This record gives sequence, structure tokens and C-alpha cells, in this order.
Amino acid sequence: MAQDNSRIPYRHPQPKESPPELVIPSVIPADERVWVPQGENVWFRPLNLCASRGYWMNLLRVRKSGVLSRHRHPQPVHGYVIKGRWRYLEHDWVAEEGGYVYEAPGETHTLVVDEGVEEMITLFQVNGVMIYVDPDGAVLGYEDVFTKINLCRAHYEKVGLGAGFVDQFIR
Ligand code: FE
Repeated sequence: MAQDNSRIPYRHPQPKESPPELVIPSVIPADERVWVPQGENVWFRPLNLCASRGYWMNLLRVRKSGVLSRHRHPQPVHGYVIKGRWRYLEHDWVAEEGGYVYEAPGETHTLVVDEGVEEMITLFQVNGVMIYVDPDGAVLGYEDVFTKINLCRAHYEKVGLGAGFVDQFIR
């Protein structure tokens, strides 16, 4: 009878080019300094800043109501709403706590948090670039994984965690 090998770990080396895994026990950090400010009452918390593939995973936290940004995504975005709710002016659905949102490539939309939402936290996986635009699509600015890394470095240096604190999130 064949020996039961179901509990035997894989016994060969992992590919040497494979980057180290990344495990973050507390997605909502105990240390408030981990949140990187990106506007008044708006922060992001890096989880995976994937420089090698040009995407990032982060939490977006908003503690105000109103328009956050109008932006275009050339590539898809995935979102999971951890707390609160938000919507896009261009759509009639609302992203609710516990919900998942797929944002299609090519979309331009305007993110709004409505009155009565004290705090919104959403996990976003953003590929490539966020292009900030005016209502006609004229480019106002952009963010990519590299600008995110730079914001983290500057903030962590300033709050005493050290610029190198961001390195743990970079793959
Ligand atoms: Fe979006």
C-alpha cells in the first residue's frame, strides 16, 4: 500500500528567482504611524508595493465626506470594502461594507464618500497607474507603485519609523 505522504512538505527548493512571501498579521495596524497621509483626512496603508510587476495592494482610509478624486484606470482595480461605504458619481451602485468591486480597465470615475460615513476603509489592488483627470479627461497627475513607495519613505522617515520601514512591503 502506498505510504500516506499528504503531510510531507514539498521537499525541493523554491525557484531562486521567486521573491520572499509577505505576511502581515494586522492589516489594520496597531501603530497609527503606518498609515501614510495622502490628503486631508485621507490615508493609505501599504500591504504589497509590487515594484517588479507595477501594482500595489493597499488600504485606503477616508474620514471625511465629499469627492476624493476623479481618476482613470488603464488596468483593472479590485476592491474589498472593510468598513463604511463609497460610490462613483458615474454609477448607481454603492460599494458597501463587506462588498467586492471590480473596476474595469479604461474606466474614468469620481470617488465619493457620502455624508454620514464616519470612516471608510477599502482594500484596493491597483495595477499600473491611477491617472487623475478633470471632467473632460485632461490629465492632472498620476500615481504608480513608485510614487507610492516615495510617499511611504518620506512619511516613515518623518514619523520616526525610518525610510527603510517601507522596504518590508516592496516585492
Ligand atoms: Fe477607481
